[in-house]
Amino acid sequence: MNITVENKKWLEDFNLSHPLVIAGPCSAETEEQVLKIAHELKNSDVSIFRAGIWKPRTRPGGFEGVGAIGLKWLQKAKAETGLLMATEVANATHVKLALEHDIDVLWIGARTTVNPFAVQEIADALAGTDKIVLVKNPVNPDLALWIGGVERLFNAGITKLGVIHRGFSTYEKSKYRNIPEWQIAIELQSRFPDLPLICDPSHITGQRDMIQEVSQQALDLNYDGLIIESHYDPDHAWSDAAQQVTPTVLKQIFEDLKVKKITTEDDAFNAKMIKLRAKIDIADATLLETLGKRMKISEQIGALKKEKNIAVLQNKRWNEILGKMILDGEEKGLSEEFILRLFKAIHQESISHQEKVINK
Ligand code: PEP
Ligand code: MN
Repeated sequence: MNITVENKKWLEDFNLSHPLVIAGPCSAETEEQVLKIAHELKNSDVSIFRAGIWKPRTRPGGFEGVGAIGLKWLQKAKAETGLLMATEVANATHVKLALEHDIDVLWIGARTTVNPFAVQEIADALAGTDKIVLVKNPVNPDLALWIGGVERLFNAGITKLGVIHRGFSTYEKSKYRNIPEWQIAIELQSRFPDLPLICDPSHITGQRDMIQEVSQQALDLNYDGLIIESHYDPDHAWSDAAQQVTPTVLKQIFEDLKVKKITTEDDAFNAKMIKLRAKIDIADATLLETLGKRMKISEQIGALKKEKNIAVLQNKRWNEILGKMILDGEEKGLSEEFILRLFKAIHQESISHQEKVINK
C-alpha cells in the first residue's frame, strides 16, 4: 500500500517560513477560556488552535470534556482570531459534529489509533471531506498500527494527512510521560517522506520545563511541525496541568528554537561533513566487527556450557557485567539508559547465539 500525500501540499499551502505550529489548551473549559487563549496566540507563529472537546481519560471520574457546546466556542474563536481550529475525534458522532461546525483539522488520539474498528469508523465518517486529518501514534510502540491508521484514512479518500508523534507509554517510569522512541517516528518519516510529521512535546514530556528541549530535538530531526498545549493559567487547567505553558512562555520557546536547514551550498561545511561522516562510517564498521567477534565468543561459551550441561542464562554474571558497563559508560559520557538498552540487546543476541550452539 502506498500513501501518497502530494508533496506535503496542504502544509506548503500555509506558506510558512518556519515549522507549522498548533497550540492551545489540552481541553476547552469555558467560552471565555477558549477565546482568551486564542487571542493570546494569534499574531504569533501559531497557525492552528487546538482544544480537546471530548477527552479520553485513563480513569473514569476525571474531566471528560465539555462536549459539543465547545465546538461553538471554537467557531467563535476562529471568527475572532482567524486561526484554524483543531480538535480530537474518536467516533463517527464526533466527526459528524466537528464537520457540522466546520472544524478545520481533526486529529485521532493515541488511545483511538490503537483500535482499527474506531479508526475505520472515523475514516468512513470522514470520507469525501477535504479537512486536514492528523493521526497520533498509538499508545504502544507499534509502527504498523500507526501506519494502518493512516492507510484507513487514505483509503477513504482523505488526502490532507499528517501524523503526530506523542510518544509511547511504558510500565516503568522514565523522565518522560511517554517515551519518544524517536526511531519509530524516523522510520515512518523515511518510509513516507511526503507525510507531514508533527511532534507533540507536551504529551511526550508531561512537564512544561522539558517542552523546549524536546521541541528542539524534533526540529533537529526535520519534523514539519509542533503541537504544544498552552493555557493562560496552566496550573489550574482542567486536564494536563503540569505540561501546559502560557502563551507568553510559548512565544519565548519559538524565539529560542533553532530551525535547521536540511542542506547548504557552503562548500567548506560540506567538505567537513563528508570527512566526519566517513569517520562515523568507520566507527560503525568497527562496532559491527566487534559485535560479530563478541557473538563468536558467546558461541564458544555455548559449546562449553553444552559439554557440562550448564544453563545459558547466568543472572549473577550478567548483573555484574551490567553494573560495570554502566560505570565505564558514564566515564565515556554515555547515559545509563543507553547502556541498559544497548547491553540488553547485546545480551539477548548473545543468548540466542549460545542457544543455537546448544540446541544444535
Ligand atoms: C491530547 O492531545 O490532549 C490528548 C489526549 O493526546 P493523546 O491522544 O496524545 O494522549
Ligand atoms: Mn492533553
